[in-house]
Amino acid sequence: MNDYQLYIDGEFCEASDSGRFDTTNPATGEVWATAPAATEADVDRAVRAAHRAMTTGEWASMTATMRGRLLYRLADLVAENAHWLGEVETTDSGKLAAETRAQSAYVADYYRYYAGLADKIQGDTLPIDKPDLHVFTTRDPIGVVAAIVPWNAEMFLTATKVGPALAAGNAVVIKASEIAPAPLLEFARVLDQVGFPPGVVNLLTGFGEPCGRALTSHPMVSKVAFTGGVDTARQIVASTAHNLAPVSLELGGKSPILVFDDADLDGAVNGAVAGNFGASGQSCVAGSRVLVQVGIHDRFIAELVRRSEAIRIGDPLADDSQMGPLATRAQRDRIEAVVAESIAQGAVLHTGGSRPEGLDAGWYYRPTVLGCPNQEVTCTRVELFGPVMSVVSFETEADAVAMANDTEFGLAAGIFSSDASRVHRVARSVRAGIVWVNTYRAISPIAPFGGFGNSGSGREAGVDAIGEFTRTKTVWINTSEQPMANPFTIR
Ligand code: NAD
Repeated sequence: MNDYQLYIDGEFCEASDSGRFDTTNPATGEVWATAPAATEADVDRAVRAAHRAMTTGEWASMTATMRGRLLYRLADLVAENAHWLGEVETTDSGKLAAETRAQSAYVADYYRYYAGLADKIQGDTLPIDKPDLHVFTTRDPIGVVAAIVPWNAEMFLTATKVGPALAAGNAVVIKASEIAPAPLLEFARVLDQVGFPPGVVNLLTGFGEPCGRALTSHPMVSKVAFTGGVDTARQIVASTAHNLAPVSLELGGKSPILVFDDADLDGAVNGAVAGNFGASGQSCVAGSRVLVQVGIHDRFIAELVRRSEAIRIGDPLADDSQMGPLATRAQRDRIEAVVAESIAQGAVLHTGGSRPEGLDAGWYYRPTVLGCPNQEVTCTRVELFGPVMSVVSFETEADAVAMANDTEFGLAAGIFSSDASRVHRVARSVRAGIVWVNTYRAISPIAPFGGFGNSGSGREAGVDAIGEFTRTKTVWINTSEQPMANPFTIR
């Protein structure tokens, strides 16, 4: 049993009231580690440590180039520990080790990207419209950043916040999810080896109440970077009424994958499988509404069912598994209920819809394909965060675009077509922050990531992310030989 500790002000410690919670291996259903449940007092200590680190001492006076060097060192340490970090993530979340190991290794590239950007964050000299004034801008760190992440890709979602936040000179308090917190607790051990001054990065584990609420409403927090569900986002926005901290939100989705008659069938099926059964469908960008043109529909379904039934479900640590369990029992219960409700509303079960045989321990669920008569059926409207694909057919390109945009969300969209003009038309018309054409689920530190509508606001990754963690300062310098004159007129 691993009994982890919080990481506050450069030291590992217990929660102030010694409270702890269990964390479970979804592949076995057994508790394998415990983590501290941070209290309001722990939150206050972490935020004050971050504030002190930002405003006084070594971090506050460090050059941007030096900050970049520390981020390069963090990247190297993440790369060295990627295998181990990936396995811990798999044990705690049930996500396939093949994916968590590779993703942890790739996370190092996110830190490298922001290490390189640290000393390229610069302002402008302004050609001001008045004599005897030299006016320039700087991009200042915004302040203490609260970085709140869910359980489904923690190393990655932490890097997209911590990388740009530190590059810009901020200090950070990370709050891990109460579901599968272990990878970030291991990450704290990596952070501790980097050489950041104490308080620059702090890591808390705990629940939305009190830990998340206390963090997001803390008067010394200047920015909240959140990834998670829409209901939590609403609570966070309400909490930030206290400190008026700007909030960036990376939320869920019900992303469409549009498959046109002229698409390459194999490529489109691969896209739908990757978009729905990769990570057991527990992905914010899951392409869980697959809209298929009538001419290719029946062939698409036949191939999709064949491919779905060949997926090897099993131990997420095993090299030959292609799909692991869901992260929680509650998650599987909800999916079972929505699938049953959708079938009662007229959806046709093409495959799946049940637990796999022989995997009784753990929270496994078969890859499921539901044919839906329209987009009123529940499974086409709610984010399921599981291996459930809803397929709806369409007649024309205009129908496809209208159906794709008929959602409260707007995170991602996939387009499968061999017609270049159509691809451009549809990419322009689809309301989504990320559009993948003849591919799906590709990401990069260089490419901005984020959504429209209830999928959130703000952008992570890419140069854009620096803007989320800086504020422009404008400096006016009187260059005339005369002292400032009449105080009652504006110059
Ligand atoms: P969640 O919203 O339940 O929890 C996310 C985090 O918020 C956790 O750390 C939780 O403890 C914390 N939290 C809960 N209540 C809080 C409060 N009142 N104040 C502050 N923090 C609070 O999300 P989840 O179920 O763990 O994760 C799944 C969701 O995350 C899905 O909707 C998924 O689509 C979304 N997600 C989005 C992206 C993206 O980049 N757009 C990426 C991954 C996941």
